[in-house]
Amino acid sequence: MAKILDGKAVAAGIRSEVAAGVADLKERGVPVRLDVALVGQDPASVTYVAAKERDCAEIGIVSEVHRFPDGASQEELAALVEHLNGQTETSAFFIQLPLPDGLDPLALISRIDPAKDADGLSPESVGRLSVGMPSLLPCTPHGVIQLLKRSGVEVAGREAVIVGRSNLVGKPLAQLLLRENATVTVCHSRTRDLPEVTRRAEILIVAAGRREMIGAEHVREGAAVVDVGIHRKEEGGLVGDVKFEEVEAKAARISPVPGGVGPMTRAMLLHNALEAARAG
Ligand code: NDP
Repeated sequence: MAKILDGKAVAAGIRSEVAAGVADLKERGVPVRLDVALVGQDPASVTYVAAKERDCAEIGIVSEVHRFPDGASQEELAALVEHLNGQTETSAFFIQLPLPDGLDPLALISRIDPAKDADGLSPESVGRLSVGMPSLLPCTPHGVIQLLKRSGVEVAGREAVIVGRSNLVGKPLAQLLLRENATVTVCHSRTRDLPEVTRRAEILIVAAGRREMIGAEHVREGAAVVDVGIHRKEEGGLVGDVKFEEVEAKAARISPVPGGVGPMTRAMLLHNALEAARAG
């Protein structure tokens, strides 16, 4: 039976470290402030932004949500990005994704000052990460790394396999795992024999966005399995990309959904706001 990679507990530790850093900066007259742009009423986005506001309030980060209706234009959002880039009180900010159809998220994210890029997703931030320059790190991939390291999972030299190659998770995670000296393989929808590749993994990270697609047949005995996927069940509650019960019986470590990568992502956003304020 696998030991749980407890994202809730690890994230709580990170939040208290960030809270101490925030209090320290405040004493020196530097309040930490995180702004967010929220467009439309997508229920998941509204819930995530509310949770992020609560997190900020809890640890002493000032936050402000800039709300736009569904029909907001690219120009209006670009104007907010320019405004926040120039506003000295704002330590860092992000645009809650996904955006409604008709808006181009990458064009907007590209305009964010990398020093204030709370999500760490701008092309410049990702480019800096890939050439080994300092940058704010993408929250979910960084959360996965912190979850592994702080849970005592050795990363250096090990076979890591990622399922998914999105700009949000898979690709930056590959860069971070390389930086941690793992041997990295990235799978995607055109991978020919997925179970054959994933069974090589000592560390298997699944970010495919396909409900319970990974079963015991995909997993090497004794692997550490991190489930990034989040799916809402019709009957309520959440489930991931991994069939938890059958994989738990084969893996050595496994992250649950909920209580795994989700809280880590939120904690790393707070960490980035603090890092940006420190550097700013
Ligand atoms: P995307 O849909 O952008 O990317 C999914 C990736 O998985 C793609 O690269 C796709 O391949 C690959 N894929 C899809 N189906 C298969 C398959 N059958 N076999 C192999 N690869 C496959 O998703 P995201 O990266 O944005 O998110 C992934 C999941 O993580 C979602 O469930 C999302 O909700 C969750 N998530 C959770 C977060 C958290 O904090 N816990 C944060 C962000 C996301 P291809 O490129 O070929 O299409």
